[in-house]
Amino acid sequence: GMTDEGSPIDPTRPSIARVYDYLLGGKDNYAVDRQVGDVFKRDLPGSLAIAFANRAALTRAVREIATTTGVRQFIDLGSGLPTADNVHQVAQRHAPESRVVYVDIDPQVLVHGRALLEQNDRTRVVPADVRDPEAIRTHPETLELIDFDRPVAVMFSAILHHVNDEEDPAGIVRYWRDQVPSGSYFFVSHFRSGNNPETAEAERVLQQTFGRGRWRTDKEIESLLDGLEILAPGIVPAPRWRPEVVDSPWNSGGERELTVWEHLIAAGLARKP
Ligand code: SAM
Repeated sequence: GMTDEGSPIDPTRPSIARVYDYLLGGKDNYAVDRQVGDVFKRDLPGSLAIAFANRAALTRAVREIATTTGVRQFIDLGSGLPTADNVHQVAQRHAPESRVVYVDIDPQVLVHGRALLEQNDRTRVVPADVRDPEAIRTHPETLELIDFDRPVAVMFSAILHHVNDEEDPAGIVRYWRDQVPSGSYFFVSHFRSGNNPETAEAERVLQQTFGRGRWRTDKEIESLLDGLEILAPGIVPAPRWRPEVVDSPWNSGGERELTVWEHLIAAGLARKP
């Protein structure tokens, strides 16, 4: 089908959004996405752990921003298909007045997002390419919800690793840094290079499937956040990013040993000084 923006949904080619949806247990995917997802599960058995650790860190970061800062407007870049706890649901649970603009390049996100994410007048779905930040910032639906004179939370959750080096991921972050006022927050989660065979294999499978997917070291991820103050505990494996203090041995991401896979996704939160 065609969306109202004119980008076709192609059920014959795998999409990053739909494969990720499949890994998270969602239903917005086609046979071709499940085939790729099954290759990931077979060759990269940690794919599920990476997806869930990423999603959990994003959820914690939104909650932290909503409960410990005054920021009430979020731009979620590369938001993906709707899943269990979407950014506006987490933010509005803690701060009901929170406004969220979802941005994704995948036409399926627009179709399902309009139905499932725009559940109230404080959320919008903008179809756009993260590599064109100016188009996102000046989009009428963005301007309806976001006041750029007030601090914003810009969420780069599992999106910058889909931007190759020559596409200037640091320049994208810098654009947003320069557009938002001091006191704005930047969340980043990112494929984390372990310089090990798992990393090499994961990068190979991603590049082969989608022509993109860059594993970066903590240092390389930090350098994407130039001019921002990276908050404690820094850029760390996602399960180690402000883990919930819970009394169960299988859920204490701060204490238990991580699997080799859980080291392959990093998370961090930064603030514009
Ligand atoms: N942010 C969500 C999360 O962390 O759970 C979803 C991450 S999912 C792995 C990556 C998303 O980025 C997909 O929905 C994909 O369509 C989107 N994406 C990939 N390249 C993009 C681009 N150039 N512009 C906008 N979105 C893009």
